[in-house]
Amino acid sequence: MVSLVASQRDPRSDDHFDAEIVRKDFPILSRRVHGRPLVYLDNAASCQKPRCVIDAMTLAYETAYANVHRGVHALSEEATAGFENARRKVATFINAESADEIVFVRGATEAINLVASSYGRMLRAGDEVVLSYLEHHSNIVPWQMLRDATGIVLKVVPVDDDGGFLFDEYERLLSDRTKVVAITHVSNALGTVTRIGGIVERAHAHGAVVLVDGCQAVPHMVVDVQSLNADFYVFSSHKLYGPTGIGVLYGKKDILQSMPPYQGGGEMIHAVSFERTTYKDSPHRFEAGTPAIVEAVGLGTAIDYVRSIGLGDINAHEKRLLDYATERLGAIPGLRIFGPAGEKAAIISFTMDFAHPHDVATILDRTGVAIRAGHHCAQPLMNRLGLSATARASFAAYNSFADVDALVDGIGMVREVFG
Ligand code: PMP
Repeated sequence: MVSLVASQRDPRSDDHFDAEIVRKDFPILSRRVHGRPLVYLDNAASCQKPRCVIDAMTLAYETAYANVHRGVHALSEEATAGFENARRKVATFINAESADEIVFVRGATEAINLVASSYGRMLRAGDEVVLSYLEHHSNIVPWQMLRDATGIVLKVVPVDDDGGFLFDEYERLLSDRTKVVAITHVSNALGTVTRIGGIVERAHAHGAVVLVDGCQAVPHMVVDVQSLNADFYVFSSHKLYGPTGIGVLYGKKDILQSMPPYQGGGEMIHAVSFERTTYKDSPHRFEAGTPAIVEAVGLGTAIDYVRSIGLGDINAHEKRLLDYATERLGAIPGLRIFGPAGEKAAIISFTMDFAHPHDVATILDRTGVAIRAGHHCAQPLMNRLGLSATARASFAAYNSFADVDALVDGIGMVREVFG
């Protein structure tokens, strides 16, 4: 919870949350872009880092850096303690039963590739994997590669014209041939929130395991993997105020334990001979090679930071911003917002009938406002909606109502140029 000096508070803010206070924790947000104050609304692609994360990583390099796990010297033991402590923080953050269920990977992309390669090796030709039209390419392409290698069949849950997940259609696709359901928790292109609890429940009724892509969920809402009952849950640190180069694969312990290794190398073995190699238990079995040691420390600190503000408060604040942005953008003639209202998280995706999304983003950039334009690595979704691209503004805890005003003012300039 962020306490406030009353006079600093934006009157549109909640009583005990002020983004201006949060904003001060992020050094980069005080810089200017094209001579204008930076308004950063590209958080779904990657969000900025608070001072505490930057400092924790610097401190780790300055005082406690060495390779982990193998060393008996003090620095290695300290680095290992920092690395394993981060694993415990992640486990607590998503309410995993044990830190052994947390595999550190490079990011969500690697986490999904790991599951598709390793769990996928246990599938047979004709087995089915269910995806949805909302998926990011990173939750499509690894499964296609598996299909091409093994002859599994991909089934795709359709969306409605607004990008809403069609639950009835999902249920119709499930059968006893379904072995894996891999679905996003929140669409990165539209912000659509899927009913993951129900999705998991229906998949389990058919004996399938479920992988949830939580990249766009963990920064915005409390995620409890035990109550969701997901078998795998993946996310990237860099969208959660943490560093790049590290991400998380959560997997239920018995399932991870049943899976063959993903990559081979140091750290993941018990003993190696030319005849035979034996592997460590999970999670270490899946962490071949030197891991992202200091990045893990940074991720752990980012989690501490998010918890110190409170995800409930962040969620409520971002919801108010989203409502405000929806109201203000929705009032602009010729601007169309995508994604079903009321079932969205922190993302507003739109097109304008008088300017291409790339032109919108380019002009906004000249006003200091950073948004993203493109297909958002979700080309099948864009094609389904009859679009080549959208403009996307996405929020984080440090965004304010004034940032939304700046976005709307910038769109006014787009209209002056193109309208
Ligand atoms: N899934 C979703 C929903 C995403 O938004 C992203 C990142 N845009 C990814 C997966 C891939 O994450 P990363 O590039 O960090 O591996």
